[in-house]
Amino acid sequence: MKPYPDAISSKLPNTGTSIFAVMSQLAREHDAINLSQGFPDFEVSPKLIDLVVKHMREGRNQYAPMAGVPALREAIAEKTYRLYGAEYNPDTEITVTPGATQAIFAAITAFVREEDEVIIFEPAYDSYVPAVKINGGMPITCKLMAPSFAVDWEEVRRYVTSRTKMIIINTPHNPTGSVLGASDMAELEKIVKNTGILVLSDEVYEHIIFGGKTHESVCRYPGLAERSLITCSFGKTFHATGWKTGYCLAPANLMKEFRKTHQFMVFCSNTPVQHALADFLQDPDNYDGISRFYEQKRDFFLEAVKSSRFSFTPAAGTYFQLLDYSKISDQPEAEFARYLVTEHKLAAVPTSSFYHKPHNNQTLRFCFAKSDTTLEKAAEILCNI
Ligand code: PMP
Ligand code: GLN
Repeated sequence: MKPYPDAISSKLPNTGTSIFAVMSQLAREHDAINLSQGFPDFEVSPKLIDLVVKHMREGRNQYAPMAGVPALREAIAEKTYRLYGAEYNPDTEITVTPGATQAIFAAITAFVREEDEVIIFEPAYDSYVPAVKINGGMPITCKLMAPSFAVDWEEVRRYVTSRTKMIIINTPHNPTGSVLGASDMAELEKIVKNTGILVLSDEVYEHIIFGGKTHESVCRYPGLAERSLITCSFGKTFHATGWKTGYCLAPANLMKEFRKTHQFMVFCSNTPVQHALADFLQDPDNYDGISRFYEQKRDFFLEAVKSSRFSFTPAAGTYFQLLDYSKISDQPEAEFARYLVTEHKLAAVPTSSFYHKPHNNQTLRFCFAKSDTTLEKAAEILCNI
């Protein structure tokens, strides 16, 4: 194909291919164990697969309603009430989306205008900053400080201006594994009170939280819920990242605007998967044990790398663990990640890729949503470095 003959004025001049695609490709090229991109290497529940097949065979294969299959929206409303005591109306306050990524993009696009400021905590999931920028907004970044990666709310206060349109939070947090507590929510509530600031709360790891902690969804806090769009992902919850199904919760007046954008991005999500999820959610046992399951994986992985020269603070949530390699090498993160995959056949993600400016914590992120055999092999490699 001949290239487009004119100069391209990129809307995202400093954005390359997502680190998750890059590292997974490198892992394939080097036949490496892939603990980089966040996805499980074990199977989806056969019960859930059977349900998808059933709904496909029964002919539920055409467009779903724009906001999502009603039965699934009802099941989401029930789950949200059961877990967090918050009532969302399935007709007007819940929209099923093709993954949380699309929900995040739609939420930002629906509300962020030219020159609006959006406060983002770094390290940050890689889609937030580009989504803000492509809409003409200005990302304002607050740093989460290692090793606890706690939010400095005084810093947030200093960054709030009359142009602040949105604050994006993510708990449990990718990539650090930190979680926000009730006192964080109280601070956030105080900051946004009597302002027009919206909160985008990315809660895709709501079911992966350790040490008996409870997930502090913003919807538990009426002063936050009234101004929040919450994004969730069935991909994370049911080990089915490839199904790209998630949802957004928001009060009706915010949801009305969200849907205006959502309908012209994708119109709707995959129909048979929505029906299957609606059935699967009827039994809370299908999601109640997920934290326990992943806590065992985290402990198994950490026990196996304990004797290595990597150091760590155990993740409090998510299926990611940061490992610090400063006792091993002074290489920057991207270089060390490349060395690990090419020389030792183990792929991880440099945490520097979660910052929009150069940064070096000398840590890599490892995904432990893997079979024990995979984790054992990976740990053996790490112990030999
Ligand atoms: N937010 C965070 C923090 C994530 O880690 C991910 C990755 N799954 C997403 C959003 C996107 O989720 P989905 O795969 O449902 O688009
Ligand atoms: N959320 C996943 C991660 O952090 C990857 C999602 C993606 O590949 N875009 O690894």
